[in-house]
Amino acid sequence: MVGAGLSGAVIGRHLAEAGHKITVLDSRDHIGGNCHTARDAETGVMVHVYGPHIFHTDDAEVWDYVNGFETFLPYKNRVKTTSLDPEGRRGVFSLPVNLHTINQFFGKTLRPEAAHEFITQEQADTSITDPQTFEEQALRFVGRDLYEAFFKGYTIKQWGVAPSALPASILKRLPVRFNYDDNYFFHKYQGMPENGYTAMIEKILDHPGITVKLETVFDQSQAADYDHVFYSGPLDGYFDYQLGRLGYRTLDFERFTHQGDYQGCAVMNYGEESVPYTRITEHKHFAPWESHDGSVCYREFSRAAEPEDIPYYPIRQVEEKALLGEYVALAEQAEGVTFVGRLGTYRYLDMDVTIREALDTARGFLAAAEAGNRA
Ligand code: FAD
Ligand code: UDP
Repeated sequence: MVGAGLSGAVIGRHLAEAGHKITVLDSRDHIGGNCHTARDAETGVMVHVYGPHIFHTDDAEVWDYVNGFETFLPYKNRVKTTSLDPEGRRGVFSLPVNLHTINQFFGKTLRPEAAHEFITQEQADTSITDPQTFEEQALRFVGRDLYEAFFKGYTIKQWGVAPSALPASILKRLPVRFNYDDNYFFHKYQGMPENGYTAMIEKILDHPGITVKLETVFDQSQAADYDHVFYSGPLDGYFDYQLGRLGYRTLDFERFTHQGDYQGCAVMNYGEESVPYTRITEHKHFAPWESHDGSVCYREFSRAAEPEDIPYYPIRQVEEKALLGEYVALAEQAEGVTFVGRLGTYRYLDMDVTIREALDTARGFLAAAEAGNRA
């Protein structure tokens, strides 16, 4: 198993329970992959080391699975954003765009139906019938004023390209609501692991059939040491980048501390392009059941990943898609290895989807092995 993130842990556990002997390797000095959580040494606050992670899903089996390893406490993601209103006044607004945002931003007191009419008739660009790009999607559904305040600058900072060069699908992840529901997600099950994600993943890996080796880098030459490899590292990395590199955005976090409550919420986005960071995360608000006088915050900056950087978001623009196709062809020919997870398949995957795919992969592998034994 290459990678001690969710993919490696869930597949490893499933196969270990079926009697296989599993070795999990990770190049980092900790388990948990990008979901890793750790207590901040100075403040004692549980920190989401690689960026804010909120668990949300409609998948009952996955929800039961994670609750089988760790207590999940109720947590709703309520994000705020700082930006300029149409008069150029700086303010704090509610996300995702909802009735509160609309009324506050435009200085109105509209009820749901009137707000819907206002946005669709006075703001939205209805001449765009089939939005293809991020920008078209925004102009079509919220109009230029909201787009420029909340999405344009943030997206340029996050992705490093104009929103007209990005697919509409990125914005489709965010709802627009004509009521006061400010829950960032729609999902039925939402929560936060009481003791952090790493504690949960530690329990998933805690099985007599599993050996974890940290600070151990895997390369293709080691594949022969194992009956089968599940690889959750970067797809292009497995092939030694022989066709070139798949593009990623990476994140830099600037840590600072504060005595008391710095911003009053876990995540504050910054819509203005002139503010260099995309958001500030104040980690103690992810665990409202804990009490800490001190507070630790991360300012988050996004940039193109260099070879030595941690890959975070796959870019998946036109060039990357072509290169991805070539790597997928290589992956299909490779024997004895299954490419899994967000890096192994070069896709943005939420944690619940990662777990669902990991369970399906492990079951598929066991079923194929059993069919092979019978034949
Ligand atoms: P990873 O966690 O990346 O694990 C892969 C592991 O493989 C890493 O530990 C790496 O060190 C190791 N590795 C790679 N190559 C090698 C090698 N050659 N040798 C040895 N080890 C290697 N999901 C949500 O559901 N909710 C959220 O709020 C959320 N927020 C996110 C915020 C950010 C900023 C990011 C980037 C992602 C977020 N996600 C969120 C997604 C979540 O992080 C992923 O679903 C999850 O981390 C995927 O797990 P994985 O095991 O596939 O990959
Ligand atoms: N986005 C934005 N402004 C915001 C929040 C999000 O423009 O305040 C855009 C941005 O391009 C982001 C996309 O919407 O990549 C999807 O948002 P989400 O919160 O899902 O981002 P992620 O969790 O991927 O960081």
